[in-house]
Amino acid sequence: MAFDSLSEKLQNVFRNLRSKGRLTEDDVKAALKEVKMALLEADVNFKVVKQFTKSVQERAIGQDVMNGLNPGQMVIKIVNEEMVKLMGSETTELAFRPGKELTVIMMVGLQGAGKTTTTAKIAGKLKLKGKKTLLAACDVYRPAAIEQLQINGEKQGVEVFTMGDKNKPVNIAKAAVEHARKNEFNVLIIDTAGRLHVDEDMMAELEEIKEQVDVFQTVLVVDAMTGQDAVNVAGTFDEKIGIDGVILTKLDGDTRGGAALSIRAVTGKPILYVGMGEKLSDLEQFYPDRMASRILGMGDVLSMIEKAQENIDEEKAKELEQKMRKNEFDFDMYLESMSQMRKMGGFSSLLGMLPGMGLGNGKMPDIDTDEAEKSLARTEAIIHSMTKKERTNPSLLNPSRKQRIAKGAGVDISEVNRLVKQFEQMKKMMKKMPGMMGGKRGKRGMF
Ligand code: GDP
Repeated sequence: MAFDSLSEKLQNVFRNLRSKGRLTEDDVKAALKEVKMALLEADVNFKVVKQFTKSVQERAIGQDVMNGLNPGQMVIKIVNEEMVKLMGSETTELAFRPGKELTVIMMVGLQGAGKTTTTAKIAGKLKLKGKKTLLAACDVYRPAAIEQLQINGEKQGVEVFTMGDKNKPVNIAKAAVEHARKNEFNVLIIDTAGRLHVDEDMMAELEEIKEQVDVFQTVLVVDAMTGQDAVNVAGTFDEKIGIDGVILTKLDGDTRGGAALSIRAVTGKPILYVGMGEKLSDLEQFYPDRMASRILGMGDVLSMIEKAQENIDEEKAKELEQKMRKNEFDFDMYLESMSQMRKMGGFSSLLGMLPGMGLGNGKMPDIDTDEAEKSLARTEAIIHSMTKKERTNPSLLNPSRKQRIAKGAGVDISEVNRLVKQFEQMKKMMKKMPGMMGGKRGKRGMF
């Protein structure tokens, strides 16, 4: 699978970080050294790696840890954000001319990169968007390229314009534009001829098409498995003919991921789509954020971080922490901590997000989350049935009050007793551990 080896290495680095309660500056530096090695082995451009680790380090050192996260998770959060930035942050879409005007897209790239296949894949996507699309077969050099486009075009239900392999590509392109205009097509995609290596003839031919045909988008197709070569090819094409975006093919077979991580940073051109297989449906829109979490193999942890960010009310959490430190813990606070947990998606979603517990790993914990959720709901009902005084002063809870509360919450009195007992135990535990909530450290900084 894509990025397997890179993901595995990064996950090991992060596992070590997360197992530490606190992090020193040296911990972070050592971890980033390993991240650097992993990225270089993944064939990420060395200048990109250098800049990347520098940015992460600068941000990680001296940064406060957000409530709801531990220092290790905080480092993962920063690495993730920098990785998203590296890949361009926003999703870039193919651009089209306004209204019914014909948009001409020219596909370029080396032979074998997947140009012809990708042309047909895009045609399918555009058809779904309701765009009437014509494909033009201008690869007159690679044997069977024309026939391949015809077969794939037919599979996609899209018309293919051909003039055999005896005409000059630029003439075929011009005739295709004419045909497209006459028949009110919205989009024309030109499949051009590649060569085994970057060569002058190919570039001259592409330049000629670009000059004589009103090309709106020039899209480069590169093979992700060629790593840094793909990045160099992208640089050369952009310099010679100018490209608007890149499609990275064969990402399904690329265990390293170097091209995906470097192309944007090196060439400044966005990745538009990624090819994830040979089938015509295997083309995905490129989302830098999803790609980063795929690379980090930490989708679960990252969504937990996101939720913590969105939902934890920092002020309330601080207040709770203060009260716990002063050992003023009461049932109102118990209720508050439960509601914070609810905001984070409840018990089952929290469990599902913990690494090794998510469904994605095929393992589910031995806990009946349904039952746990129900029990949480009953606990809330019990506390809601208490008076304000009872909540702040649980010692008031005599048998007759407990009976009344049980009735109000619709539970057996034994459940009320159990809750009160658990509450007392929790309070005792907190008394024994004054540093538990970070009290000894004062400011919850990373170092
Ligand atoms: P062209 O010379 O650039 O037109 O390349 P082709 O479209 O003929 O593709 C070359 C080979 O790569 C074919 O066998 C395709 O099936 C294969 N291919 C293209 N895209 C992908 C992809 O995203 N994943 C995989 N696994 N194979 C692909």
